[in-house]
Amino acid sequence: MKEIFDPGKLVRANIKAMKPYSSARDEFHGSAGVFLDANENPYGRLNRYPDPYQWKLKEQISKLKGVPVENIFLGNGSDEIIDLSFRIFCNPGNDKALTFSPTYGMYEVSAEANDIKIIKIPLNDQFQIRFNDIKPYLSDTSIKLIFICSPNNPTGNCIKRDVIERIINDFAGIVVIDEAYNDFSDEPSFRNQISEFPNLIVMQTFSKAFGMASVRVGMAFANKEIVRYYNKLKPPYNISSINQAAVSKNIENGDRYKTQVERIKSERKRINEELLKIPAVLKVFPSDSNFLLVRVNDPDTLYNMLVERSIIVRNRNSIVNGCLRITIGSKRENTKLLNALKKINL
Ligand code: PMP
Repeated sequence: MKEIFDPGKLVRANIKAMKPYSSARDEFHGSAGVFLDANENPYGRLNRYPDPYQWKLKEQISKLKGVPVENIFLGNGSDEIIDLSFRIFCNPGNDKALTFSPTYGMYEVSAEANDIKIIKIPLNDQFQIRFNDIKPYLSDTSIKLIFICSPNNPTGNCIKRDVIERIINDFAGIVVIDEAYNDFSDEPSFRNQISEFPNLIVMQTFSKAFGMASVRVGMAFANKEIVRYYNKLKPPYNISSINQAAVSKNIENGDRYKTQVERIKSERKRINEELLKIPAVLKVFPSDSNFLLVRVNDPDTLYNMLVERSIIVRNRNSIVNGCLRITIGSKRENTKLLNALKKINL
């Protein structure tokens, strides 16, 4: 348990001082009555503003994830949560954030959009963090945020737990663990450790295992004070009522998503084995995610040849030498990919 750590001390002074917008839905709670308070149109089905704090959905997520409601924040996708994290904790032009490379590109994009310098520490050849490489940075008080993506995109692997714990313990700022792909991994989530580590934020999303990328709902699990700042800064109605209802219904379907996850994992194993039989494939990296990072001969040509056959993978050659990232699709889609690769001579 980290002691004498107050995450509020890391919050930007102007964010601490600002008075948040108070919406009509903040000022009156209740569902019955004549509502003339929010300049809504009285007619139609989608005429009312949604619940700004998504209470019903959070109750369901709380049961699903075993995290109390007051420790949950919902964003318009995890991408909104990444951006809010910079805006809460980093002073533009002065503060820094740290992440690793290769990793998910939005940490850097959001940092740049907020005029925050991002330090990128290369992962080792097994795509793990070398603790000694980042040790000197952990005492730098101008670094406010560290982003750790685990399982990591685009490499697919989990970062070792003991290294993550050492970073959280030794760092004076906030550590965000992006667990977008955690459901495809056997590694337990860090979300149950938010009470142990007040400087920890764990992000997950409905875009991957739950198959709801189009509805844009991401989750952050963190201590109550951090959640309070996310709520203070977010746009009042950041998640539409249609999207809240869609996720709610998906959760009511119970374990259906788990069946899909198992299917994706079994396809991941099959494609992995089949890819190794293809001459152009040099290496398939181990994956805890719904994609495989694959090193091939001449990735740019191979990528283009697949595009010509209407099969689109992600060319990651510019960030991981020689590599394509292949999302695990349906059995039919995967077989189409494998058949195409078998016919390509590179
Ligand atoms: N984190 C990682 C690691 C991702 O790969 C992605 C999407 N590709 C996201 C977050 C974005 O998730 P969301 O759809 O919830 O914004």
